[in-house]
Amino acid sequence: MPVLLQINELKKSYKNPEGGLCEIVDVEKFTLEDNSPTALVGRSGSGKSTFLNLICGVLRADSGSIVIKGTDICTLSESKRDRFRARNIGYMFQTFNLLQNFTALENVLVGMKFAGRVDREAARQILVDVGLGDRLNYRPAQLSVGQQQRVALARALVNSPSLVIADEPTGNLDPVHAAEAMGLIKSLCSKNGAGLLLVSHDRELIANFDRVLDLSDLNRAGAV
Ligand code: ADP
Ligand code: MG
Repeated sequence: MPVLLQINELKKSYKNPEGGLCEIVDVEKFTLEDNSPTALVGRSGSGKSTFLNLICGVLRADSGSIVIKGTDICTLSESKRDRFRARNIGYMFQTFNLLQNFTALENVLVGMKFAGRVDREAARQILVDVGLGDRLNYRPAQLSVGQQQRVALARALVNSPSLVIADEPTGNLDPVHAAEAMGLIKSLCSKNGAGLLLVSHDRELIANFDRVLDLSDLNRAGAV
């Protein structure tokens, strides 16, 4: 199976308030293949969000390599990483990070703008795919939390990313909507040919993932 993401000797430390360095991520090797949805678990503070932010290129690694589709994003400047992310990675957060003054459709279009390809019909279609065809012109405050989460999913998928990164995407949903959302994320990533790396603390929700990994087994950083 083709390798989508290959990580080697990845390290990231933060400065603690006392000025010392605190090692958060130290991962020798991590591979993600196409068509192998992977869930990451791990206790709070174990570095899951930091690990995902490194893969997204939001954070810069101290050392090591993160090769996505043949490009080592650790060698890219911040602006090149931003461009690479816009074109290749869709990401979702627990708090959906939607623009409150923009409609569902506009939120998806903004995501397209960053990737340099604005296509209203494609944006509309992806909102139809997540079940929001009748909510295109609603702003986030006019949508339920579950619907807001689906706007975030549409935005993550609209640029046809190779990889979707999701950081506790169902953390703000009740159990019924969380299960529904998890099913939708998995099936739409698979339908759109996007690899999926998702963090969740809910073992029941990720029970049907191909791969479930505990970050503590991968991460040699023992500072937390
Ligand atoms: P998780 O997502 O697994 O709960 P995080 O990756 O958010 O964990 O955080 C891992 C550790 O890194 C925590 O101990 C946290 O205090 C520390 N940390 C996160 N962000 C920063 C920052 N900007 N500066 C210093 N320490 C940070
Ligand atoms: Mg986190």
